[in-house]
Amino acid sequence: MDTSDNPNSPDLQSLVAEIVSSYVRKNYVEPGDLSGVINTVYQSLLSVGKPPAPNPAVRISQSATRNYVVCLDCGWRGKTLTRHIRAKHGLNENDYRARWSLPSTHRLSATAYSEKRSAWAKQLGLAQSKTGVVEGAEAVQQQPEPEQAGLQIEPERQP
Ligand SMILES: [Zn+2]
Repeated sequence: MDTSDNPNSPDLQSLVAEIVSSYVRKNYVEPGDLSGVINTVYQSLLSVGKPPAPNPAVRISQSATRNYVVCLDCGWRGKTLTRHIRAKHGLNENDYRARWSLPSTHRLSATAYSEKRSAWAKQLGLAQSKTGVVEGAEAVQQQPEPEQAGLQIEPERQP
């Protein structure tokens, strides 16, 4: 077993030796089974102290799309994750990014959602200027009437 590139191996190997030797002192192990025991202990020790590798609900590359974003923890799908991860998993955006090793460029809101919000702002602005145009047009249309009435009366007075 070549583990020379693993910096943890000296400690781990002595730990494995310690556990295995104390095990074989109390239990009879067939010589052929010894490597199996060592391997089991070694693998168990390797996984100790490490957080269980998180298994994302969807592939990270598929978790942020144009129309929705997907929670990597539970597969929840929505327009923005910020509220969901806080309510369901007690995470803020930084915790969530760290948990899944997401770059700061990774979107936690759907692209379309962000676009819609700025579109709403634009539409609000447009609606306001449209109202102004309509009011002005009505004022222009109403003005000629009294003038025309006056013009019609004037020729009758003249002769
Ligand atoms: Zn979730």
